[in-house]
Amino acid sequence: MAQDKKLIIANWKMNLGVHESSLYLHKLAEKVKIHRDVQLVLAPTMLALQTLSLQVNHRQFKLAAQNFYWRDHGAFTGEVSATQLRGIVSYALVGHSERRHVFHETDKDTRAKVQAAIRNGIRPVLCVGETASERAAGETKDIIHDQLLGGLANITSDELDQVIIAYEPVWAIGTGNNALPNDVTEAIVSIRSQIKHLYGAKASNEIQVLYGGSVTADSAADYLTLAEVDGLLVGGASLDAQSFATIVEKAYNSTKKGA
Ligand code: PEP
Repeated sequence: MAQDKKLIIANWKMNLGVHESSLYLHKLAEKVKIHRDVQLVLAPTMLALQTLSLQVNHRQFKLAAQNFYWRDHGAFTGEVSATQLRGIVSYALVGHSERRHVFHETDKDTRAKVQAAIRNGIRPVLCVGETASERAAGETKDIIHDQLLGGLANITSDELDQVIIAYEPVWAIGTGNNALPNDVTEAIVSIRSQIKHLYGAKASNEIQVLYGGSVTADSAADYLTLAEVDGLLVGGASLDAQSFATIVEKAYNSTKKGA
């Protein structure tokens, strides 16, 4: 069972520089309002986080890191830690398919990042999902199962309260080939059933589970109205302020209290 509260995350990936991010935020802030039951989160380039954190109305938007390193400090040239992000971001993506498949991050890395985020007061958004070939082989549930087990190992029930799960089938990300709502429901039911097995019924009901994968302004409502879906992780369609604002509008309409 999903929450009435919705979480909508914009993942800008390696797009928009600092100035463009700031202009975008200015434009978006005029288009969306503060809604009690819709939390908006922006994940800009790491470079823009500091600027946006000074600019943003924190009641209107929270910020997320797209990535970070799991150690807190030390000789790790070029890396940024969750400790350094503390106070700037409220959320961080972990295990995004591009991190797993382009940068070959393993479940062990993912697990270390989930722990590092929580240790630093940042809510991890643990992304799980199967590739096209895994799906064709009928392995979707097994893959999700392994990624959840891998990412959440050593996480206590109290810590789980901080975790958000995003179901993001790899074949749907950035392809325009969004998953069918029934398939999303089936995958999320399976995620909740594993959480129930690991942490109990209350945790399984309360954990926020998002869908991500080629969501557009046109398709957003198809997911937001599903009983199992607590929000969206939006890549491509979040790069245009108007299209993202329309998605946000759909999220308002999907809550019990409406717009
Ligand atoms: C993503 O980056 O997590 C994502 C879902 O991207 P897109 O919406 O472009 O598929």
